[in-house]
Amino acid sequence: MKTSDNSISRKDFIRNSALAAAGLTLIPQIMAASPFLKEQSISASGKLSLKNVRLETGFEYEEGEVVSTKTGLFYIEIENGKIKNITPNQPNAKAVDAKGMLMLPAFKDMHIHLDKTFYGDKWQAVRKRTGGVKGMIALEQKMLPEMLKNSTFKAEKMIELLQSKGTSFARSHVNIEPTSKLDSLKNLQKALEHKKKSFGAELVAFPQHGVFYTDSVPYLKEAAQMDIDFIGGVDPFTIDGTIEKTIDFTVQLALDHKKGIDIHLHETGESGLNTVEYLIKKINENPSLKGKTYLSHCFILAKLDKVKQEEVAEKLAEAQIGIVSTIPFGSLVMPIPALYKHNVTVLTGNDSIVDHWNTFGTGSVLQKANLMAQLYGFSTEFLLSRSLKLATANILPLDDKGVQQWPKTGDHADFVLMDASCSAEAVSRISDVKSLIHKGNVAY
Ligand SMILES: [Zn+2]
Repeated sequence: MKTSDNSISRKDFIRNSALAAAGLTLIPQIMAASPFLKEQSISASGKLSLKNVRLETGFEYEEGEVVSTKTGLFYIEIENGKIKNITPNQPNAKAVDAKGMLMLPAFKDMHIHLDKTFYGDKWQAVRKRTGGVKGMIALEQKMLPEMLKNSTFKAEKMIELLQSKGTSFARSHVNIEPTSKLDSLKNLQKALEHKKKSFGAELVAFPQHGVFYTDSVPYLKEAAQMDIDFIGGVDPFTIDGTIEKTIDFTVQLALDHKKGIDIHLHETGESGLNTVEYLIKKINENPSLKGKTYLSHCFILAKLDKVKQEEVAEKLAEAQIGIVSTIPFGSLVMPIPALYKHNVTVLTGNDSIVDHWNTFGTGSVLQKANLMAQLYGFSTEFLLSRSLKLATANILPLDDKGVQQWPKTGDHADFVLMDASCSAEAVSRISDVKSLIHKGNVAY
């Protein structure tokens, strides 16, 4: 128990008391905190059976248009973190009663900074920005040493927030620069270790202060040998003053250590487009990076004319470079429909929950799917049901023809139980998440 934290929540208290009393693994304690699966238990062999689980089974058509989604109730057995059996409902079986809740794939937040947040600490609004991104770098150099003091604790709180919104997996960027050195990474790894039964993550080594503007090179090289998955980056032209040198370094580091790439690109002018085109060229030259390279934000796409948008989308698809978007609105509306049209992988994330960049993160990626549906007019049953894929990193219960494709026997038992009748309703209403299961463990 963290006796040093003077504000232990009731939930933590119950969890920790039960842990002490039973001397057991974390799973039953997490369940004690779950509002929905409270009284249930997973057997010692990791088995969990659920009855009255609602699954989507197909579309209902009228004059060729999808007008509703068909569902049915099922009996689902989970063992060793996987779905072992999906069979017709057994309402009288001795099993956890899902009470007709809708089962959907667990959500994934594919762009967040779990290492760098005020969440779990005291509220602070964003300060007036001075000096652009370089001004923000100077601000971070001042504030990071203080933020790092309890960053493990805050990361755990943020993970709990994400779980309460149905997310059990995140791609987290983690600051790697001369101020944090590898401490932000090490602190986050501790939090992830504590949460590993109920939450999964992949990490991006993120040179927030530039690769060369502040000399992050030795730290990035060290991080690349640690347990990270992607080499990150941010606005090479604005911060380092060079596109080629920074991208070349990033690509080479990723190749040397068999990592992916995920670069923040906020630039909206010529340098933004030049960066996209140079990255496409480098990935085509190094095809082993196809399918594991991403541009986060990539605001320049919103500034291009329609013809150019389509052309760039097609090239991104060919190079298998994905776009991770927080679905900005206002003066900057991303061409998400054009990206989908060309089969570009589109992912989303909260980015910031509460930090010195932004305080509007809800923790919900279902809310992002809802925002996308509203922004682009995806308002029919069919289009709403497709919009769910933004929250699940592209896993959908039904394919476009209405054929059931998830869940299947053998899949990881990663799912949410929602207070909704179908995906379309869940997206449109941002329905409540009643429970979250991660690899067969009850996470919420
Ligand atoms: Zn970010």
